[in-house]
Amino acid sequence: MSLQDLWFDPAQCLIGGEWVAPAGGGTLPLHDPSTGAEIGAIARGGASDIDAAVEAATRASQGDWGRIAAAERGRILSRLGRMVLEKVEALARIEAADVGKPLKQARADAVALARYLEFYGGAADKLHGQTIPYLDGYTVYTLREAHGVTGHIVPWNYPMQIIGRSVGAALATGNACVLKPAEDACLTALAFADLARQAGLPAGALNVVPGLGAEAGAALTAHPGVHHISFTGSVATGRMVQRAASENVVPVTLELGGKSPQVVFDDADIEAALPFLVNAGIQNCGQTCSASSRILVQRGVYDRVREAMAARYAALRVGRAIDDLDVGPVISAKQKGLVEDFLGQGADLEVAGQASLGDLPGGGYYIAPTLYAGVAQDHTLARDEIFGPVQVMIPFDDEAEAVAIANGTDYGLVAGVWTRDGARQLRLARAIRAGQVFLNNYGAGGGVELPFGGIGKSGHGREKGFEALYGFTTLKTVAAYHG
Ligand code: NAD
Repeated sequence: MSLQDLWFDPAQCLIGGEWVAPAGGGTLPLHDPSTGAEIGAIARGGASDIDAAVEAATRASQGDWGRIAAAERGRILSRLGRMVLEKVEALARIEAADVGKPLKQARADAVALARYLEFYGGAADKLHGQTIPYLDGYTVYTLREAHGVTGHIVPWNYPMQIIGRSVGAALATGNACVLKPAEDACLTALAFADLARQAGLPAGALNVVPGLGAEAGAALTAHPGVHHISFTGSVATGRMVQRAASENVVPVTLELGGKSPQVVFDDADIEAALPFLVNAGIQNCGQTCSASSRILVQRGVYDRVREAMAARYAALRVGRAIDDLDVGPVISAKQKGLVEDFLGQGADLEVAGQASLGDLPGGGYYIAPTLYAGVAQDHTLARDEIFGPVQVMIPFDDEAEAVAIANGTDYGLVAGVWTRDGARQLRLARAIRAGQVFLNNYGAGGGVELPFGGIGKSGHGREKGFEALYGFTTLKTVAAYHG
């Protein structure tokens, strides 16, 4: 797959509304995950590019962008959303070449990006303060104000969606952004920022500096001119980001992945559950923070669910992104190695279902989607985030055991519960530790409107929905004495 849909030079950064080469002049190679072939180069931004980007964002936040009326901010974001919709096909093809996503999944990401802009564009002028009854002779009210400059560190699994939810909400509330996309997936970030410029976003309101995490990423999180950091990625990096933010005493939102369960009771509508059980594990080749990688099934329906899931696994088609099948490659040779290490640790387990790989390009980063059955809850594969197309089935006897297993990992991002018993639905929605619980459905992350985030090692803070607007603003209380 080639990058013929690009209309800009990806070996540059977008700073202060201008395309500029990174100060160090360096580049990083770009590989097509479907073939392993080198298909281009991106900028290797570093500390001085981050300095320039933070400076440009500071100017924007104290100038044009910071002072613009909320309704006008919303209008620009809505216009940008419409421009993204017009470019869905080009964005999807760029993403497919860059990260190996089957085209229909890449298209869905581009449409979701547009939807975030529509949602946050509409919300920009609807974030109100309050008046607070106080002592006689006082009028007290609150103001919701932008932080100023926000830093956004984005991973490679859903670049467009994660940019939409974090940059969209940050811009809607009047912040100026510095975005550090993942080194394995920065093309749609650059495309998006260029479209934003064309949509009339003032120079410096959105700056993009591609580069390595340890260089551009670390420089951004440690920068004293950044007032809020939004990070999505691994637990290990999340810790570093939080440590760096603590030096400058700035708030961070961390979204660090999970080991999300779907719990299937004997009385569930199994036919309705089946597509959700499998899709939530293999979507985006399992590289989804809210993937449902644990399937907990009550013993009365365990064999039936195992056989039906195994049949679905056998029918999965794996192929190049451009072939647009069910599952594409993982992002990189490094990620393939990580997932294969996990599969090696499952050598003692029963493989209940597996897709066949067939005839695929030799250099591509392919993994056969694999379903393990009868897995003990303390097995590595049932506890650790694998970030590949791998699910484990864990049997349980009763509701108490189901809750204990569901809550038995360090994570708490998303959960699904399948039962026809209404009272049990409500009990489990309360008992399960997670940021989102889906009853008789499962949305990996759910819709644009739904607040999203984790507890435990899944992170803290909420993005998406109206709730995100509170995180991207700070509250000021004004107390006026007038007698
Ligand atoms: P990562 O956490 O290293 O990378 C995520 C982002 O952080 C990238 O933009 C990266 O450049 C940046 N980064 C890396 N080091 C940094 C630093 N010191 N300071 C600031 N930013 C830094 O994740 P990865 O190596 O790309 O993937 C490793 C594992 O992370 C995966 O196997 C998976 O388990 C997990 N992951 C989770 C999510 C998620 O959505 N929660 C997304 C991607 C990866």
